[in-house]
Amino acid sequence: MGISNFGYPMNKKPGSQTKLKKDVLEQSLCTGCGACVGLCPYQVVYHDRTVQLHDCDLTDGKCYAFCPRTPANYGQIRESLFDISDVTPEIGAVKGYYLSRAADPALRAKSQHGGTVTALLGVAMDEGLINSAIVSSRNEELKEEGRLIEEKSQLSDYAKSKFTVSPTVAAFNQLMGDVVRKVGVVATPCQALALAKMKTVRIKDGDKINPLNLVIGLFCGWTLSVESFHRLLQLYQISPAALTGMDIPPGKNILELYTNESVTSVPMAEVDACVRTACRYCIDSTAEFADLSVGAARFGGDCDEMRGWNQIIVRSYRGKQLLELAVAQGALEIREAPASALQDLKNAAAGKKRKALKNIVEKSRSVKNLLYLSGDDPVVKKYLSMEKKKR
Ligand SMILES: Cc1cc2nc3c(=O)[nH]c(=O)nc-3n(C[C@H](O)[C@H](O)[C@H](O)COP(=O)(O)OP(=O)(O)OC[C@H]3O[C@@H](n4cnc5c(N)ncnc54)[C@H](O)[C@@H]3O)c2cc1C
Ligand code: SF4
Ligand code: SF4
Repeated sequence: MGISNFGYPMNKKPGSQTKLKKDVLEQSLCTGCGACVGLCPYQVVYHDRTVQLHDCDLTDGKCYAFCPRTPANYGQIRESLFDISDVTPEIGAVKGYYLSRAADPALRAKSQHGGTVTALLGVAMDEGLINSAIVSSRNEELKEEGRLIEEKSQLSDYAKSKFTVSPTVAAFNQLMGDVVRKVGVVATPCQALALAKMKTVRIKDGDKINPLNLVIGLFCGWTLSVESFHRLLQLYQISPAALTGMDIPPGKNILELYTNESVTSVPMAEVDACVRTACRYCIDSTAEFADLSVGAARFGGDCDEMRGWNQIIVRSYRGKQLLELAVAQGALEIREAPASALQDLKNAAAGKKRKALKNIVEKSRSVKNLLYLSGDDPVVKKYLSMEKKKR
Protein backbone atom coordinates (compact mmCIF):
# COMPACT_ATOMS: atom_id res chain seq x y z
CA MET A 1 0.00 0.00 0.00
CA GLY A 2 1.48 3.38 -1.00
CA ILE A 3 1.76 5.84 1.86
CA SER A 4 3.42 8.87 0.33
CA ASN A 5 0.36 11.07 0.71
CA PHE A 6 -0.86 9.80 4.05
CA GLY A 7 -1.64 12.61 6.37
CA TYR A 8 -2.06 15.32 3.77
CA PRO A 9 -4.81 15.93 1.25
CA MET A 10 -3.29 16.01 -2.26
CA ASN A 11 -3.65 19.79 -2.52
CA LYS A 12 -2.28 20.70 0.93
CA LYS A 13 1.32 21.31 2.01
CA PRO A 14 2.78 20.24 5.35
CA GLY A 15 2.68 22.97 7.97
CA SER A 16 4.92 24.78 10.41
CA GLN A 17 4.75 25.64 14.11
CA THR A 18 3.56 29.14 13.10
CA LYS A 19 0.74 27.57 11.13
CA LEU A 20 -0.14 25.39 14.12
CA LYS A 21 -0.47 28.55 16.18
CA LYS A 22 -2.62 30.32 13.59
CA ASP A 23 -4.84 27.35 12.60
CA VAL A 24 -5.22 25.53 15.91
CA LEU A 25 -4.14 27.42 19.03
CA GLU A 26 -5.56 30.83 18.02
CA GLN A 27 -8.77 29.20 16.74
CA SER A 28 -9.46 27.55 20.15
CA LEU A 29 -9.25 24.18 18.42
CA CYS A 30 -6.47 22.80 20.63
CA THR A 31 -7.73 19.71 22.46
CA GLY A 32 -4.70 19.59 24.78
CA CYS A 33 -3.83 16.10 23.55
CA GLY A 34 -0.08 16.65 23.96
CA ALA A 35 0.90 15.37 20.48
CA CYS A 36 2.92 18.53 19.69
CA VAL A 37 4.63 18.57 23.09
CA GLY A 38 7.96 16.93 23.88
CA LEU A 39 9.07 16.80 20.22
CA CYS A 40 11.21 19.93 20.63
CA PRO A 41 11.97 22.36 23.48
CA TYR A 42 9.67 25.02 22.01
CA GLN A 43 6.22 23.69 22.89
CA VAL A 44 5.05 22.96 26.44
CA VAL A 45 1.90 22.32 28.43
CA TYR A 46 1.02 25.02 30.96
CA HIS A 47 -1.94 24.00 33.14
CA ASP A 48 -4.24 22.55 30.46
CA ARG A 49 -2.99 24.89 27.72
CA THR A 50 -0.43 24.25 25.01
CA VAL A 51 2.03 27.12 24.83
CA GLN A 52 4.71 28.02 22.27
CA LEU A 53 7.80 29.33 24.07
CA HIS A 54 9.87 30.16 20.98
CA ASP A 55 9.36 30.31 17.23
CA CYS A 56 10.70 27.49 15.10
CA ASP A 57 11.59 28.05 11.44
CA LEU A 58 10.94 24.49 10.18
CA THR A 59 8.33 24.54 7.43
CA ASP A 60 7.45 20.85 7.84
CA GLY A 61 6.92 20.32 11.57
CA LYS A 62 5.97 17.09 13.28
CA CYS A 63 3.87 19.23 15.62
CA TYR A 64 1.66 20.24 12.69
CA ALA A 65 1.68 16.78 11.12
CA PHE A 66 0.62 14.96 14.31
CA CYS A 67 -1.94 17.47 15.59
CA PRO A 68 -5.47 16.02 15.41
CA ARG A 69 -6.81 19.45 14.49
CA THR A 70 -4.79 20.01 11.31
CA PRO A 71 -6.14 18.93 7.91
CA ALA A 72 -5.30 15.43 6.75
CA ASN A 73 -6.66 12.77 4.50
CA TYR A 74 -8.65 11.08 7.24
CA GLY A 75 -10.23 8.68 4.75
CA GLN A 76 -6.79 7.40 3.81
CA ILE A 77 -5.72 7.06 7.44
CA ARG A 78 -8.91 5.03 8.09
CA GLU A 79 -8.15 2.80 5.09
CA SER A 80 -4.57 2.20 6.20
CA LEU A 81 -5.50 1.11 9.73
CA PHE A 82 -8.79 -0.77 9.35
CA ASP A 83 -10.71 -3.15 7.12
CA ILE A 84 -12.72 -0.69 5.08
CA SER A 85 -15.67 -3.12 5.04
CA ASP A 86 -15.86 -2.72 8.86
CA VAL A 87 -16.16 1.07 8.75
CA THR A 88 -19.48 2.59 9.75
CA PRO A 89 -20.12 6.31 9.29
CA GLU A 90 -21.26 6.81 12.89
CA ILE A 91 -18.62 5.03 14.98
CA GLY A 92 -15.83 4.00 12.60
CA ALA A 93 -14.63 0.42 12.20
CA VAL A 94 -16.58 -2.27 14.07
CA LYS A 95 -15.20 -5.83 14.05
CA GLY A 96 -17.10 -6.70 17.18
CA TYR A 97 -19.27 -5.01 19.78
CA TYR A 98 -19.90 -6.37 23.29
CA LEU A 99 -20.59 -5.56 26.88
CA SER A 100 -17.57 -6.33 29.02
CA ARG A 101 -16.08 -6.12 32.48
CA ALA A 102 -12.95 -7.19 34.34
CA ALA A 103 -13.44 -10.61 35.90
CA ASP A 104 -11.66 -9.48 39.08
CA PRO A 105 -14.18 -7.74 41.40
CA ALA A 106 -11.34 -5.94 43.25
CA LEU A 107 -10.19 -4.38 39.97
CA ARG A 108 -13.75 -3.38 39.09
CA ALA A 109 -14.07 -1.63 42.45
CA LYS A 110 -11.00 0.51 41.70
CA SER A 111 -12.06 1.32 38.11
CA GLN A 112 -14.37 3.81 36.46
CA HIS A 113 -16.97 1.33 35.18
CA GLY A 114 -16.23 -2.33 34.49
CA GLY A 115 -12.42 -2.01 34.60
CA THR A 116 -12.19 -3.25 31.00
CA VAL A 117 -9.42 -0.81 30.05
CA THR A 118 -7.18 -1.74 32.98
CA ALA A 119 -7.84 -5.47 32.53
CA LEU A 120 -6.97 -5.27 28.81
CA LEU A 121 -3.71 -3.43 29.51
CA GLY A 122 -2.80 -6.11 32.06
CA VAL A 123 -3.40 -8.92 29.56
CA ALA A 124 -1.47 -7.05 26.84
CA MET A 125 1.50 -6.89 29.25
CA ASP A 126 1.17 -10.55 30.32
CA GLU A 127 1.06 -11.71 26.72
CA GLY A 128 3.97 -9.52 25.57
CA LEU A 129 1.89 -7.43 23.15
CA ILE A 130 3.26 -4.44 25.08
CA ASN A 131 5.89 -4.04 27.78
CA SER A 132 4.86 -0.55 28.93
CA ALA A 133 1.64 1.43 29.08
CA ILE A 134 0.90 5.13 29.15
CA VAL A 135 -2.04 6.00 31.39
CA SER A 136 -3.24 9.20 33.00
CA SER A 137 -1.96 10.33 36.37
CA ARG A 138 -2.28 13.37 38.64
CA ASN A 139 1.03 14.96 39.66
CA GLU A 140 1.80 16.71 43.00
CA GLU A 141 0.28 19.95 41.67
CA LEU A 142 -2.95 18.03 40.90
CA LYS A 143 -2.33 18.42 37.15
CA GLU A 144 -3.12 15.52 34.84
CA GLU A 145 -0.22 14.04 32.89
CA GLY A 146 0.77 10.89 31.04
CA ARG A 147 2.53 8.24 33.18
CA LEU A 148 4.65 5.38 31.86
CA ILE A 149 3.85 2.11 33.65
CA GLU A 150 6.12 -0.91 33.37
CA GLU A 151 4.59 -3.18 36.02
CA LYS A 152 1.14 -4.71 35.57
CA SER A 153 0.52 -4.48 39.33
CA GLN A 154 0.68 -0.65 39.14
CA LEU A 155 -1.98 -0.25 36.43
CA SER A 156 -4.98 -0.20 38.76
CA ASP A 157 -3.49 2.73 40.73
CA TYR A 158 -4.16 4.87 37.65
CA ALA A 159 -7.66 3.60 36.82
CA LYS A 160 -10.78 5.86 36.77
CA SER A 161 -11.57 8.77 34.48
CA LYS A 162 -10.25 12.28 34.86
CA PHE A 163 -12.62 14.62 33.09
CA THR A 164 -10.04 17.33 32.54
CA VAL A 165 -7.57 16.84 29.70
CA SER A 166 -4.52 14.69 30.31
CA PRO A 167 -1.77 15.28 27.70
CA THR A 168 -0.78 11.62 27.56
CA VAL A 169 0.55 11.80 23.99
CA ALA A 170 3.34 14.10 25.24
CA ALA A 171 4.53 11.20 27.42
CA PHE A 172 4.48 8.92 24.38
CA ASN A 173 6.62 11.41 22.41
CA GLN A 174 9.40 10.88 24.95
CA LEU A 175 9.61 7.25 23.82
CA MET A 176 9.88 7.83 20.05
CA GLY A 177 12.93 5.99 18.73
CA ASP A 178 13.06 3.57 21.68
CA VAL A 179 13.84 0.20 20.11
CA VAL A 180 13.19 -1.85 23.26
CA ARG A 181 9.74 -0.67 24.18
CA LYS A 182 6.41 -1.88 22.91
CA VAL A 183 3.96 0.70 24.15
CA GLY A 184 0.20 0.70 24.74
CA VAL A 185 -1.52 4.06 25.18
CA VAL A 186 -4.92 4.84 26.71
CA ALA A 187 -6.34 7.65 24.60
CA THR A 188 -9.36 9.88 24.20
CA PRO A 189 -10.62 10.11 20.59
CA CYS A 190 -8.52 13.17 19.70
CA GLN A 191 -5.45 11.47 21.19
CA ALA A 192 -6.17 8.26 19.28
CA LEU A 193 -6.33 10.35 16.10
CA ALA A 194 -2.98 12.02 16.87
CA LEU A 195 -1.45 8.57 17.44
CA ALA A 196 -2.97 7.34 14.17
CA LYS A 197 -1.32 10.25 12.38
CA MET A 198 2.00 9.31 14.00
CA LYS A 199 1.61 5.80 12.65
CA THR A 200 0.71 6.83 9.11
CA VAL A 201 2.13 10.29 8.33
CA ARG A 202 5.43 10.22 6.49
CA ILE A 203 7.67 13.12 7.46
CA LYS A 204 11.21 13.98 6.36
CA ASP A 205 12.98 12.85 9.54
CA GLY A 206 10.36 10.25 10.34
CA ASP A 207 12.68 7.27 10.34
CA LYS A 208 12.70 6.88 14.10
CA ILE A 209 11.20 3.64 15.38
CA ASN A 210 7.63 4.19 16.50
CA PRO A 211 7.17 1.93 19.54
CA LEU A 212 3.35 2.20 19.50
CA ASN A 213 1.84 -1.29 19.63
CA LEU A 214 -1.64 -0.72 21.02
CA VAL A 215 -4.16 2.09 21.44
CA ILE A 216 -7.07 1.57 23.81
CA GLY A 217 -9.55 4.37 23.15
CA LEU A 218 -12.04 5.88 25.57
CA PHE A 219 -15.45 7.11 24.50
CA CYS A 220 -15.53 10.85 25.08
CA GLY A 221 -18.29 13.47 25.05
CA TRP A 222 -16.08 16.34 26.28
CA THR A 223 -13.36 17.39 28.70
CA LEU A 224 -13.63 20.25 31.13
CA SER A 225 -11.49 23.40 31.15
CA VAL A 226 -9.42 23.20 34.35
CA GLU A 227 -10.01 26.85 35.23
CA SER A 228 -13.81 26.68 34.86
CA PHE A 229 -14.00 23.29 36.57
CA HIS A 230 -12.04 24.51 39.59
CA ARG A 231 -14.43 27.48 39.85
CA LEU A 232 -17.34 25.00 39.79
CA LEU A 233 -15.70 22.92 42.54
CA GLN A 234 -15.26 26.08 44.60
CA LEU A 235 -18.96 26.83 44.20
CA TYR A 236 -19.77 23.39 45.63
CA GLN A 237 -17.10 23.79 48.33
CA ILE A 238 -15.05 20.82 47.12
CA SER A 239 -11.27 21.06 47.14
CA PRO A 240 -9.64 19.63 43.96
CA ALA A 241 -7.32 17.62 46.25
CA ALA A 242 -10.32 15.95 47.93
CA LEU A 243 -11.89 14.78 44.67
CA THR A 244 -11.65 10.98 44.38
CA GLY A 245 -13.74 10.46 41.25
CA MET A 246 -16.51 11.64 38.94
CA ASP A 247 -19.17 9.96 36.84
CA ILE A 248 -22.29 10.58 34.80
CA PRO A 249 -24.87 8.04 35.98
CA PRO A 250 -26.90 6.49 33.14
CA GLY A 251 -30.24 8.17 32.47
CA LYS A 252 -29.61 11.10 34.83
CA ASN A 253 -28.65 14.56 33.61
CA ILE A 254 -26.05 15.12 36.31
CA LEU A 255 -22.33 14.82 37.01
CA GLU A 256 -21.54 13.16 40.32
CA LEU A 257 -18.46 14.35 42.22
CA TYR A 258 -17.04 11.93 44.78
CA THR A 259 -14.92 12.66 47.83
CA ASN A 260 -14.21 10.28 50.73
CA GLU A 261 -17.01 12.00 52.66
CA SER A 262 -19.70 12.80 50.11
CA VAL A 263 -21.31 12.51 46.68
CA THR A 264 -22.37 15.82 45.11
CA SER A 265 -24.68 16.02 42.09
CA VAL A 266 -24.12 18.89 39.65
CA PRO A 267 -26.77 19.65 37.00
CA MET A 268 -25.43 19.08 33.48
CA ALA A 269 -26.23 22.67 32.44
CA GLU A 270 -23.62 23.90 34.94
CA VAL A 271 -21.13 21.30 33.73
CA ASP A 272 -21.73 22.24 30.10
CA ALA A 273 -20.56 25.77 30.81
CA CYS A 274 -17.14 24.33 31.79
CA VAL A 275 -16.60 22.27 28.62
CA ARG A 276 -13.37 23.01 26.75
CA THR A 277 -14.13 25.07 23.63
CA ALA A 278 -12.24 22.69 21.31
CA CYS A 279 -14.60 19.82 22.23
CA ARG A 280 -17.49 21.66 20.57
CA TYR A 281 -15.77 21.09 17.18
CA CYS A 282 -15.02 17.39 17.73
CA ILE A 283 -16.80 14.80 15.58
CA ASP A 284 -15.52 11.64 17.30
CA SER A 285 -17.16 10.27 20.45
CA THR A 286 -15.91 6.66 20.33
CA ALA A 287 -12.15 6.91 19.58
CA GLU A 288 -12.56 5.74 16.00
CA PHE A 289 -8.79 5.45 15.39
CA ALA A 290 -8.05 3.13 18.34
CA ASP A 291 -7.54 -0.68 18.26
CA LEU A 292 -10.37 -1.09 20.76
CA SER A 293 -12.67 1.54 22.23
CA VAL A 294 -14.31 1.39 25.64
CA GLY A 295 -17.14 3.39 27.19
CA ALA A 296 -19.85 3.25 29.80
CA ALA A 297 -22.48 0.54 29.31
CA ARG A 298 -26.00 1.50 28.29
CA PHE A 299 -28.22 -1.57 28.03
CA GLY A 300 -31.46 -0.69 29.71
CA GLY A 301 -30.76 -2.65 32.90
CA ASP A 302 -30.83 -1.05 36.28
CA CYS A 303 -28.48 1.87 36.81
CA ASP A 304 -26.20 0.18 39.38
CA GLU A 305 -25.77 -2.95 37.26
CA MET A 306 -24.93 -0.88 34.18
CA ARG A 307 -22.28 1.07 36.06
CA GLY A 308 -20.26 -2.10 36.53
CA TRP A 309 -20.06 -2.84 32.79
CA ASN A 310 -18.52 -1.30 29.70
CA GLN A 311 -19.36 -1.18 26.02
CA ILE A 312 -16.43 -2.29 23.91
CA ILE A 313 -15.88 -1.84 20.16
CA VAL A 314 -13.25 -4.06 18.54
CA ARG A 315 -11.76 -2.24 15.56
CA SER A 316 -8.44 -3.74 14.39
CA TYR A 317 -6.89 -7.21 14.18
CA ARG A 318 -4.63 -6.25 17.09
CA GLY A 319 -7.71 -5.30 19.11
CA LYS A 320 -9.47 -8.56 18.24
CA GLN A 321 -6.40 -10.58 19.22
CA LEU A 322 -6.22 -8.81 22.60
CA LEU A 323 -9.91 -9.26 23.37
CA GLU A 324 -9.72 -12.97 22.55
CA LEU A 325 -6.65 -13.39 24.77
CA ALA A 326 -8.32 -11.50 27.62
CA VAL A 327 -11.40 -13.73 27.47
CA ALA A 328 -9.32 -16.93 27.11
CA GLN A 329 -7.16 -15.91 30.08
CA GLY A 330 -10.30 -15.35 32.18
CA ALA A 331 -9.35 -11.70 32.79
CA LEU A 332 -12.38 -10.29 30.97
CA GLU A 333 -16.05 -11.27 30.91
CA ILE A 334 -18.01 -10.39 27.81
CA ARG A 335 -21.67 -10.72 26.92
CA GLU A 336 -23.68 -10.00 23.80
CA ALA A 337 -25.11 -6.50 23.77
CA PRO A 338 -28.73 -6.02 22.77
CA ALA A 339 -29.07 -4.73 19.18
CA SER A 340 -30.71 -1.58 20.53
CA ALA A 341 -27.52 -0.70 22.47
CA LEU A 342 -25.44 -0.52 19.28
CA GLN A 343 -28.12 1.51 17.54
CA ASP A 344 -28.36 3.91 20.52
CA LEU A 345 -24.59 4.31 20.45
CA LYS A 346 -24.63 5.04 16.71
CA ASN A 347 -27.43 7.58 17.13
CA ALA A 348 -25.59 9.40 19.90
CA ALA A 349 -22.34 9.40 17.90
CA ALA A 350 -24.12 10.72 14.79
CA GLY A 351 -25.66 13.46 16.95
CA LYS A 352 -22.20 14.58 18.09
CA LYS A 353 -20.94 14.66 14.49
CA ARG A 354 -23.85 16.78 13.30
CA LYS A 355 -23.58 19.20 16.20
CA ALA A 356 -19.82 19.62 15.75
CA LEU A 357 -20.20 20.22 12.00
CA LYS A 358 -22.88 22.82 12.68
CA ASN A 359 -20.53 24.56 15.15
CA ILE A 360 -17.65 24.37 12.65
CA VAL A 361 -19.71 25.98 9.87
CA GLU A 362 -20.92 28.68 12.28
CA LYS A 363 -17.31 29.38 13.24
CA SER A 364 -15.88 29.49 9.71
CA ARG A 365 -19.07 31.06 8.25
CA SER A 366 -18.80 28.83 5.18
CA VAL A 367 -19.71 25.23 4.40
CA LYS A 368 -16.63 25.24 2.19
CA ASN A 369 -14.29 25.91 5.12
CA LEU A 370 -14.51 23.04 7.59
CA LEU A 371 -11.33 24.00 9.49
CA TYR A 372 -9.44 20.73 10.04
CA LEU A 373 -12.01 18.61 8.19
CA SER A 374 -12.68 18.18 4.49
CA GLY A 375 -16.00 18.05 2.66
CA ASP A 376 -14.47 15.29 0.49
CA ASP A 377 -14.29 12.88 3.44
CA PRO A 378 -17.31 10.57 2.95
CA VAL A 379 -18.14 10.64 6.67
CA VAL A 380 -18.08 14.43 6.81
CA LYS A 381 -20.02 14.64 3.54
CA LYS A 382 -22.82 12.46 4.91
CA TYR A 383 -23.40 14.46 8.09
CA LEU A 384 -22.87 17.82 6.42
CA SER A 385 -25.57 17.06 3.86
CA MET A 386 -27.93 16.01 6.68
CA GLU A 387 -27.30 19.37 8.39
CA LYS A 388 -27.86 21.21 5.09
CA LYS A 389 -31.23 19.45 4.58
CA LYS A 390 -32.30 20.44 8.09
CA ARG A 391 -31.62 24.15 7.42
C1 LIG B 1 -12.57 12.95 29.41
C2 LIG B 1 -13.41 11.67 29.32
C3 LIG B 1 -14.71 11.76 28.84
C4 LIG B 1 -15.48 10.58 28.72
N1 LIG B 1 -16.74 10.67 28.22
C5 LIG B 1 -17.47 9.52 28.07
C6 LIG B 1 -18.79 9.56 27.52
O1 LIG B 1 -19.30 10.62 27.17
N2 LIG B 1 -19.47 8.37 27.37
C7 LIG B 1 -18.91 7.18 27.75
O2 LIG B 1 -19.56 6.13 27.61
N3 LIG B 1 -17.67 7.12 28.28
C8 LIG B 1 -16.95 8.26 28.44
N4 LIG B 1 -15.69 8.18 28.96
C9 LIG B 1 -15.09 6.86 29.23
C10 LIG B 1 -15.44 6.35 30.62
O3 LIG B 1 -15.37 7.39 31.57
C11 LIG B 1 -14.46 5.24 31.03
O4 LIG B 1 -13.13 5.68 30.87
C12 LIG B 1 -14.65 4.00 30.19
O5 LIG B 1 -15.97 3.54 30.34
C13 LIG B 1 -13.66 2.89 30.62
O6 LIG B 1 -14.01 2.43 31.88
P1 LIG B 1 -13.10 1.36 32.62
O7 LIG B 1 -13.73 1.01 33.92
O8 LIG B 1 -12.77 0.28 31.66
O9 LIG B 1 -11.77 2.25 32.85
P2 LIG B 1 -10.59 2.02 33.88
O10 LIG B 1 -10.23 0.58 33.94
O11 LIG B 1 -10.90 2.75 35.14
O12 LIG B 1 -9.39 2.76 33.12
C14 LIG B 1 -9.48 4.09 32.71
C15 LIG B 1 -8.18 4.43 32.01
O13 LIG B 1 -8.31 5.72 31.43
C16 LIG B 1 -7.17 6.51 31.75
N5 LIG B 1 -7.63 7.90 31.78
C17 LIG B 1 -8.40 8.49 32.72
N6 LIG B 1 -8.65 9.75 32.40
C18 LIG B 1 -8.02 9.98 31.23
C19 LIG B 1 -7.91 11.12 30.39
N7 LIG B 1 -8.49 12.29 30.70
N8 LIG B 1 -7.19 11.02 29.26
C20 LIG B 1 -6.58 9.83 28.93
N9 LIG B 1 -6.66 8.73 29.70
C21 LIG B 1 -7.38 8.81 30.82
C22 LIG B 1 -6.75 5.99 33.11
O14 LIG B 1 -5.41 6.31 33.40
C23 LIG B 1 -7.00 4.49 32.94
O15 LIG B 1 -5.90 3.86 32.33
C24 LIG B 1 -14.93 9.35 29.12
C25 LIG B 1 -13.62 9.30 29.64
C26 LIG B 1 -12.86 10.46 29.73
C27 LIG B 1 -11.44 10.37 30.28
S1 SF4 C 1 -1.20 18.57 18.85
FE1 SF4 C 1 -2.75 18.49 20.48
S2 SF4 C 1 -1.91 19.83 22.08
FE2 SF4 C 1 -0.81 20.33 20.18
S3 SF4 C 1 -1.94 22.04 19.22
FE3 SF4 C 1 -2.74 20.14 18.34
S4 SF4 C 1 -4.50 19.64 19.65
FE4 SF4 C 1 -3.25 21.12 20.79
S1 SF4 D 1 -14.53 15.77 23.00
FE1 SF4 D 1 -13.11 15.40 21.34
S2 SF4 D 1 -11.66 17.08 21.48
FE2 SF4 D 1 -12.69 16.99 23.44
S3 SF4 D 1 -11.35 15.69 24.68
FE3 SF4 D 1 -12.94 14.39 23.80
S4 SF4 D 1 -12.00 13.58 21.96
FE4 SF4 D 1 -10.77 15.33 22.57
